[in-house]
Amino acid sequence: MKYKKITNEDLLYFKNIFGEERVISENEIKSEYAHDELGTVFNYPEVLVKATHKKEISALMKYANLHKIPVTVRGSGTGLVGACVPIYGGVLLDLTLMNKIIELDKTNLTLTVEPGVLIMDIYEYVLKEDLFYGPDPGEKSATIGGTVSTNAGGMRAVKYGVTRDWVRGLEVVLASGEIIKLGGKVVKNASGYSLKDLLIGSEGTLGIVTEIILKLTVKPVKMISLLAPFNSKEEAILAAPKLISNHVIPTAVEFFLNDSLLYSERYLGKKLPHNNYPAYLLLSYDGYHEEVVDKDVRKASEMLINEFNAIDVFLIDTEERRKAIWSVRDGFLEAIKLSTTLIDECDVVLPRAKINEFLTYVDNLSSELKVRIPYFGHLGDGNLHIYFCKDDLDEKKWQETLKRGFLKLYDKAASFGGLVSGEHGIGFAKKEYLKNQLKSEQLTIMRAIKKAFDPHEILNPGKVI
Ligand SMILES: Cc1cc2nc3c(=O)[nH]c(=O)nc-3n(C[C@H](O)[C@H](O)[C@H](O)COP(=O)(O)OP(=O)(O)OC[C@H]3O[C@@H](n4cnc5c(N)ncnc54)[C@H](O)[C@@H]3O)c2cc1C
Repeated sequence: MKYKKITNEDLLYFKNIFGEERVISENEIKSEYAHDELGTVFNYPEVLVKATHKKEISALMKYANLHKIPVTVRGSGTGLVGACVPIYGGVLLDLTLMNKIIELDKTNLTLTVEPGVLIMDIYEYVLKEDLFYGPDPGEKSATIGGTVSTNAGGMRAVKYGVTRDWVRGLEVVLASGEIIKLGGKVVKNASGYSLKDLLIGSEGTLGIVTEIILKLTVKPVKMISLLAPFNSKEEAILAAPKLISNHVIPTAVEFFLNDSLLYSERYLGKKLPHNNYPAYLLLSYDGYHEEVVDKDVRKASEMLINEFNAIDVFLIDTEERRKAIWSVRDGFLEAIKLSTTLIDECDVVLPRAKINEFLTYVDNLSSELKVRIPYFGHLGDGNLHIYFCKDDLDEKKWQETLKRGFLKLYDKAASFGGLVSGEHGIGFAKKEYLKNQLKSEQLTIMRAIKKAFDPHEILNPGKVI
């Protein structure tokens, strides 16, 4: 793909749109804008612009479309697949200044926000009103625009679903600069193809999300978490689907091994309680009636110990302890990152019944390739996070190991009915693996969709397909 290089004339034009101080050119751009949180994909933009209004974005896109300049959107940059990295240079469009909460509609139970609002600020804002936003991705400093554009999942997906399930409407600036509205405050919508749902998870390749109408619900009155240690990963993994099929459906079920706790202790610089068991489930239950939540927790505890071989069940029922244990869980990625020189990640999603077999395959692969591969996962929805650790491998060996290992993992996952990404998306890093998995007909349709939205391929080029 050939794109126009940015000239002084272009910079002048951008300064007219955004103002002098929100256009940052080449040498002044900080290195953090050249990578995302994982850091495996790296490239500087030619210019960084910070938008404060959709009209600026519309003007930028009209100009970029005319001159064939690539535009990559960036939220908080917490992605893990290089999706917000401008691999063809061009313009990096930072939306973090567009961070207004526009309207809380208590009758329709919707919250209208700009894309740069952080998800932690959304939780705090709605909780004060006794309301609740369901999706719960691990990194709370992500923007809502980023989580919409990656269809982020998270811990509570078992009960509350993923970001797509909570988006009622979008405002989008197209590659042409036109502004369109998709969906709205309506609960149901059978009005033609759902372009809204196509935009969600499209990683900034189809349009730029400038306003989001989120669905809210009322705040659950009670939330309790349980920590259940097991003697083996196999027993822990088998317990989750059994709880679900026995009608004690948790809000979240996270799975991890002892090593994740030990990495966390090093990361946090403190000892964690209950840290000496081989495998764990961390569950949470919530609801609108205290007695129902208590009954579910009692039933889950009994079943875990009496029927599914949990060694014990520790009840975490104060807000302080609940926050503490879930923040340890949220920090696993950072803790593993700190345990080595470099990591790369596989975010496969599998049918729940295949997880044990798949993780045995991962353990064998770790021995075969002589590389450390820690993992943990959102067990309730079959989404695993598997990390290859570089440790002291030289660059050549590391690249060979990654390539061989990832190909094997994704092939194995596909043979079990799994898919390349459960929640982190495809971005740049997982493109080849997605291509391997799709039929040519699917790729053709996806390419035609991209062409229809973005005929000059200026929106986040080189990503997803
Ligand atoms: C510690 C940690 C834990 C995490 N846990 C989870 C988890 O549990 N679940 C999960 O799903 N993810 C998780 N993530 C990944 C990451 O937080 C999500 O992918 C998040 O959605 C990215 O949001 P962001 O604002 O950082 O977006 P960025 O990383 O800046 O961008 C992500 C993509 O969205 C596009 N984009 C951003 N804003 C817009 C917009 N307004 N319009 C169009 N395109 C846009 C970008 O171009 C890019 O393609 C985790 C990451 C970390 C570091």
